[in-house]
Amino acid sequence: MKTFHTIKELKEEIRSLKKSGNCIGFVPTMGFLHEGHKSLIERAVKENDIVVVSIFVNPTQFGPTEDLDAYPRDLEHDKKLCKDAGASIIFNPDPKEMYIEGACSTVNVSGLTEGLCGAKRPVHFGGVCTVVSKLFNIVTPDKAYFGEKDAQQLAVIKRMVMDLNFDIEIIGCPIIREEDGLAKSSRNTYLSSEERKAALILNKSLTLAKKALISGEKNVNNITDIIKNSLNTEPLAKIDYVEIVDSLNLKPVTSTDNSILIAIAVYIGKTRLIDNFTWTN
Ligand code: AMP
Repeated sequence: MKTFHTIKELKEEIRSLKKSGNCIGFVPTMGFLHEGHKSLIERAVKENDIVVVSIFVNPTQFGPTEDLDAYPRDLEHDKKLCKDAGASIIFNPDPKEMYIEGACSTVNVSGLTEGLCGAKRPVHFGGVCTVVSKLFNIVTPDKAYFGEKDAQQLAVIKRMVMDLNFDIEIIGCPIIREEDGLAKSSRNTYLSSEERKAALILNKSLTLAKKALISGEKNVNNITDIIKNSLNTEPLAKIDYVEIVDSLNLKPVTSTDNSILIAIAVYIGKTRLIDNFTWTN
């Protein structure tokens, strides 16, 4: 496995790998990798000749009051996980390498980015779309892998790739959870042991909603109430949002006829956690 820190060197490597006919899979990450990231890398390894993993804590997707400096980092651990998962290349650029001084161009996807996480994080998806576009242009993958854990991000990236004619197949991968149901996340490390227990309320509440849907509940407001009432039983939890939206265009729905995304964001203490599931009748 090779590690590159500069765009020029990575591009040279990719050019020569492509000349030899290799199919390139790409997994963009912010590092501090866990089993969730590993599942994406392993899937990419199965479906491609070469897998590139980017490890880059992207400053432009953090708002001014968000946790950029505190975001956990451990490159040595990440290298080992990538190697174990079968990745061929790590791309670990410096922010100065990714963002040249005086850059004037950004990528924004409207419509899908104003609701859900975008409502409280106004700069987030602009930063994500800009960095992912840049990474796509640098890595030029055939396929790119994203987790369903960040369901809005996945929908936004699919839309961006369609709108801007990127010749890349976007593949969504299932949410990997801890044994007790908490969705794996680099941010789980912020939780105290008491908060870690309280965080189980996210998956518990979504499971109640899923059970209601399975037993035939079709009223969107009732499903929303089931989730909110359950979340409110946990004193350490503070709801950011509970939303039921169309899984493709992310617009709020009034019925469960089409495929829907049930998405929640909840503060456990100071840590904001997200979780979701998609439901098709
Ligand atoms: P991040 O490093 O948080 O930017 O995540 C990089 C990629 O890993 C994104 O596509 C995430 O959706 C995905 N990911 C993060 N956590 C999980 C998880 N628990 N299960 C599946 N994919 C995940």
